[in-house]
Amino acid sequence: MDLPDRSDRAAVKVYFHTFGCKANQYDTERVQQAFDASGAVVVDDPALADLAVVNSCTVTNESEVKLRRFVRHVARAGRAQTIVMGCAAALDDGSLATLPSVRAVVANADPDAVLSAAGLGARLTPGRRPGVSRDRSRALLKIQDGCDEHCTFCATTLARGANRSRPVAELIEEARTLAAHHAEIVLTGVHIGTYGADMPHAPCGMSLGGLLDRLITAVPSVRFRLSSVEATEVDDTLAHLLIEAPRHLAAHLHAPLQSGSNRVLKRMGRHWYTAESYRARIDWLAERMPVFGLGADVIAGFPGESADDHRSSIALLAALPFTYLHIFPFSVRPDAAAARLGGQTPPAVIRERARELRELGEAKAAAYRARRRGQAADGIVSGRQQGRLEVMTEDYLSVYLDTDQWDGRPRFEVTVY
Ligand code: SF4
Repeated sequence: MDLPDRSDRAAVKVYFHTFGCKANQYDTERVQQAFDASGAVVVDDPALADLAVVNSCTVTNESEVKLRRFVRHVARAGRAQTIVMGCAAALDDGSLATLPSVRAVVANADPDAVLSAAGLGARLTPGRRPGVSRDRSRALLKIQDGCDEHCTFCATTLARGANRSRPVAELIEEARTLAAHHAEIVLTGVHIGTYGADMPHAPCGMSLGGLLDRLITAVPSVRFRLSSVEATEVDDTLAHLLIEAPRHLAAHLHAPLQSGSNRVLKRMGRHWYTAESYRARIDWLAERMPVFGLGADVIAGFPGESADDHRSSIALLAALPFTYLHIFPFSVRPDAAAARLGGQTPPAVIRERARELRELGEAKAAAYRARRRGQAADGIVSGRQQGRLEVMTEDYLSVYLDTDQWDGRPRFEVTVY
């Protein structure tokens, strides 16, 4: 199978689709920029594309089912050949290549490797910098990749390798470039709380808090936001920035909990915190932050999770000031350790526990919204939906405005309703 004439690169129309986390979104943007710079045209409909680049996720078995369904959908939609990249591609046993219209499977998301799989050489347009997306007020900055932990439900360590932190100077330079086009920069990665742990010789033992301190000093014009960070990895520097620098660091934590039962946390391999230490850190922050967006990931029905374990999760989630929850019914890749654990929870029980957790999440989100209603917030334009402007507050609430109420500024005060 060949793409259109290689000598006319502008003729190559490329469609991008991303599954998974913000680290994947960042990786897709970098690959997209490389295609853009090589002269290809990015299209937003797979039916119009010559090539589809799909960035895959492997966090649950469900993610891979969705990936396969999507690749088949692209093949039916038109004439596009597909390149599958990312985490599922890195762990693939060869079966992705057998899906219809798949041209190549590229482990991870190196822009040069994907360009070369597409038959397009790198030809970067001068002046384009990684990470700069020209059409959004919020940008992503990936500060590290990989993870040194081995949670039994997660295959990310296998797919992305060990923790690798990017140098501070490089991140400051990229943040400065992003600040020219964006009002908010979201720090992202696979396990950002371990930033700097692989740099023992960095000045003053660089940590996530230390990095943020340097970024805020160097780029004070933007609001930074943390993507997902473990509650017990919020060090004192980071905690004080959250409390004292609300214009520079969004009052928002997404702190994965996964379970409120210490027994289940142990089975998950999450040895660095307990329900008690998680709660202590969050309580300490919540007492000091009048406005605090707080989210968590929770897995429903992990193998061996008893009714009492589930109740412990419910009790902890009810007690802490969560403003939203992301609930994942347990489903795991067959090659992750949790697939081999005894005591697999019956699917009907998983569904029921997930439903209960979701209801709790919705109730907590509604209660927080009601408390914030009528209050002022620091809004940054995050997109458009159905002709209306979507504005994101520091505590991760979306507020929608009519576009004719907007004066074009990317950041302004809004009233939560
Ligand atoms: S901390 Fe656990 S869940 Fe998170 S990326 Fe590392 S291994 Fe996966």
